[in-house]
Amino acid sequence: MSDAWRAGEWLRVAESDLPLVTDLPSLLGSEGGALVLAPHPDDESLGCGGLLAACAAAGRSARVLVISDGTGSHPRSKAWPPARLAALRREETGAAIERLGLDPGRDLGFLGFPDTAVPKEGPGFDEAVRKVLEFAGAGPVSLFCTWEHDPHCDHAASFAVALAAARSLPHGTRLFAYPVWGLAFAYPIPGFPLPPEPLVPAPPRGLRLDIRRQLEAKRQAVAAHLSQTSALIDDDPGGFRLPPEALALAFRPQELFLEEALR
Ligand SMILES: [Zn+2]
Repeated sequence: MSDAWRAGEWLRVAESDLPLVTDLPSLLGSEGGALVLAPHPDDESLGCGGLLAACAAAGRSARVLVISDGTGSHPRSKAWPPARLAALRREETGAAIERLGLDPGRDLGFLGFPDTAVPKEGPGFDEAVRKVLEFAGAGPVSLFCTWEHDPHCDHAASFAVALAAARSLPHGTRLFAYPVWGLAFAYPIPGFPLPPEPLVPAPPRGLRLDIRRQLEAKRQAVAAHLSQTSALIDDDPGGFRLPPEALALAFRPQELFLEEALR
């Protein structure tokens, strides 16, 4: 067996072989909370809705930091110019995490980088890392961010921010990646274009969290992102809508968390 596998095969192996757990301590340790970095408003619910709901139910701290403003979803809408769309997407994210049992006033933050322009380096990148560390606070925390091989520039850039932040946090901090669009390498989504399939070092590490009890709350949270799931914005024919195949992947009874080596 080679040292690197194609991303799709790698994910399928992860999904069949990584331990399936029902308890939060396996992911978060005996104390401490979860900090979920979402490149766009909706990634938190798609990739970590079950985890966040489980944290809320268990009284574990769970916070969400949204990196970009999400204004790339309907760039030609006249009725929803960028400032109005950004405000809507913030509101939708607040409603989403409320449905997961979190408190938007306490548990939600936004970095507000323009959609598709999350920095991968330079002063903007350093600023993003600093803000993540600020938001993480002093307590023990496990970081969750989209997978570096997700085929979207903001997802990969956000992962780089998360990795740099996790390396600056105290020893014992863990970083988990949650694939969103990368799942399309394993489960092709019609009409969703994929770049050449990356090679990923084998074997995968991490866990799968059983979210059967949180699935209804997760569905409700994703549905709160009305601009992404409905015809709410109807004046941009090329506007984005979450395809049913992506929703079906998000609504499976487990969430996949790939552990990243930090040191
Ligand atoms: Zn995204």
